[in-house]
Amino acid sequence: MDLKGKKVLVVGLGKSGLAAALFLRRRGAQVTVSDIRSAEALAKEIPALIEEGIMVEAGGHGLLTFRRQDLIVVSPGVPLDTPELAQVKSFGLPVIGELELAARFLKGRMLAITGSNGKTTTTALVGEILLKAGIPTLVGGNIGVPVVALIDQSTDETWSVLEVSSFQLESTDQFHPSIAVILNITPDHLDRHGSLENYALAKERIFAAQTAEDCLVLNADNERAAEAASRSAAKVYWFSIEHPVERGAWLEDGTVVYRPQKDAATETVMPLSGIPLKGAHNVENVLAAVVAARLAGAPADAIRQAVESFQAVEHRLEFVATVNGVEYYNDSKATNVDATAKAVAAFDSGIHLILGGKDKGSPYTVLAPLLRARVRAVYTIGSAAAKIESELRGVVSILSCQTLDNAVSAAASAARPGEVVLLAPACSSFDQFENYEHRGRVFKELVGERRGQKAWPNS
Ligand code: ADP
Repeated sequence: MDLKGKKVLVVGLGKSGLAAALFLRRRGAQVTVSDIRSAEALAKEIPALIEEGIMVEAGGHGLLTFRRQDLIVVSPGVPLDTPELAQVKSFGLPVIGELELAARFLKGRMLAITGSNGKTTTTALVGEILLKAGIPTLVGGNIGVPVVALIDQSTDETWSVLEVSSFQLESTDQFHPSIAVILNITPDHLDRHGSLENYALAKERIFAAQTAEDCLVLNADNERAAEAASRSAAKVYWFSIEHPVERGAWLEDGTVVYRPQKDAATETVMPLSGIPLKGAHNVENVLAAVVAARLAGAPADAIRQAVESFQAVEHRLEFVATVNGVEYYNDSKATNVDATAKAVAAFDSGIHLILGGKDKGSPYTVLAPLLRARVRAVYTIGSAAAKIESELRGVVSILSCQTLDNAVSAAASAARPGEVVLLAPACSSFDQFENYEHRGRVFKELVGERRGQKAWPNS
């Protein structure tokens, strides 16, 4: 794709929008960026853009701005059905996302990972394994580094390991990873995708351009993810924590094993006890990483070494501290009900669970059996509190706390030595915090204060 002299509009000035605008400009395009935030809110970004010769439209989108373009690049945060985008699409103007744009320029091969939960953990893990195996590797996408930022470093030998979200996949067209992974599909983002089916179909775009030469790795234990096999042209590999699979990875007598083909010998990869992460969901992530990394050429030895030294990514069931015999875990990234269920399932009993934030449209009732069996009390915070309380009334003791500060105090007073205080809120954070990282840091600070220190050293 030649960008020289092309008129390109970048919609949404987040991290990836900004990176895309600068990339397009460097390749000679005439770039305009448009964001609904005001010029004051964008005061930090605007001078650098103007300096590069990029035009900026702040405080809303003008329809004319959209019409005068050769190409429109949308940020993942921008819904594709806004009136402006719907109209230009009906005129036949190409509308793509930053992922699609970057993928057209990346050299080498792509290994892309999606799913409702576990993307960041698995992407980071696969990246570490490939590096350990000496394979030229770049890691990016939803994990924090825009994919366009990888282009200049990529070569024909590179494997780009990409975390891709349903929002990014929605605006792909030719995106073609050699290896694609769908970790799981459970309800999330129904506020934006409308229905579970629409959301699942967005995730399935990860393999839309794949052919029989490519590989698709699926979770045999997740019904909606497994179903995708029937619609894929790629060679399907599986992982399961429940049973052996035809080709892929599973558990056998406390060992992670891998089989490359139906009738091939089974390889021993590593003992289950060598996985340092908590919870069965992380075993699923490791199995997915094993299959993806073996397919990209990493030997079992590199996999074992990388997994054994892997540490939980911050805010993902991260151990914070033990205070007065009570363990505190920060799973602020549990922003949907399934992630919370997995966090609760990682502890046998005695859990004091902090739930709430901004509701995302999925029912909390599915948590009832787990809460009944393992949780001593729920402490609610944020705007979803009333919904949570009404759906879980009678299941478990619920204390309405409003704020995280109150919730930590109440949980700390109630918890006995040997028990666990778990922040796994099942909601997004935007009602009371900037983002889930902010919420997790505040939690760690509150725990730090309980230890008698002012700030938590890792925050
Ligand atoms: P993502 O990037 O998909 O949001 P993360 O690795 O950041 O995934 O984890 C998000 C949340 O989901 C965390 O609360 C984490 O503990 C939980 N989680 C991680 N892996 C899984 C999994 N395979 N299934 C369910 N929940 C998971």
